[in-house]
Amino acid sequence: MKQCPIPCPFIAQHSHDMASIRKHLLEGNQCRDAWVALSKLVQDARQRKDCLERAAILAPDDEELQIAYLEARLAVQPDDVFAQQRLNEIHTMRLLSDVKTHYFHEQPKPRLIGDILVSIGAITEAELQEVLSEQRRESLLKSDRRLGQLLLKRGLITPSKLAKALIIQQQERSRARTAPQVLGEYLVERGYITAAQLEDVLAEQIRLDQQGKRLSIGELLVRMRLMSKEKVDQAAREYERIFWSKFNA
Ligand SMILES: [Zn+2]
Repeated sequence: MKQCPIPCPFIAQHSHDMASIRKHLLEGNQCRDAWVALSKLVQDARQRKDCLERAAILAPDDEELQIAYLEARLAVQPDDVFAQQRLNEIHTMRLLSDVKTHYFHEQPKPRLIGDILVSIGAITEAELQEVLSEQRRESLLKSDRRLGQLLLKRGLITPSKLAKALIIQQQERSRARTAPQVLGEYLVERGYITAAQLEDVLAEQIRLDQQGKRLSIGELLVRMRLMSKEKVDQAAREYERIFWSKFNA
């Protein structure tokens, strides 16, 4: 099989000659232009759709071609819901890319933990800058968890303040869809626990973490008698299922 260049020089010479196009394809050329040319020569709507489908497969990034193919599908079958939806999506995306507003192009980014701590008055901007520069000096991995630990170590914040900031960050992340929803937030959303209880659990998790003890949110919920072990296991399974089901869409 040979991949033809786009545009294909052979088809450029023979675009109205069905016999030549057919021969070119039968020789095993993977040729977008041959299928496009053929689609213009065939009379039958179904054949036209088949030609454009093959052309579209050979050039998946060619939006004009995708549109031509989807329109050909609709010509064959007007109630083709998938084709209609896909076509609407492409038209919408084109409209949006014309509207060069801040809103469409830059989703507000979830804030970093340090910025959230400043905004809820847990630390001052100066304290944040000081710890950030220490973080850079120590060339630590630039991670929020790390920053939180540094602030705790220096006694600048309490575990419960950090827990509150972590919850705010989780909420912002799930709004911006930049990270999969975390178990704790799922439990609150489904009414298994309240936001205040989650805050207690996270604060306890941070406190224990400081003492070198690592406990999961699930373990802590059971230990703090907020949920039974069975309920935690059940909720964790539900959460996993929902998380993975997003990949099958
Ligand atoms: Zn060719």
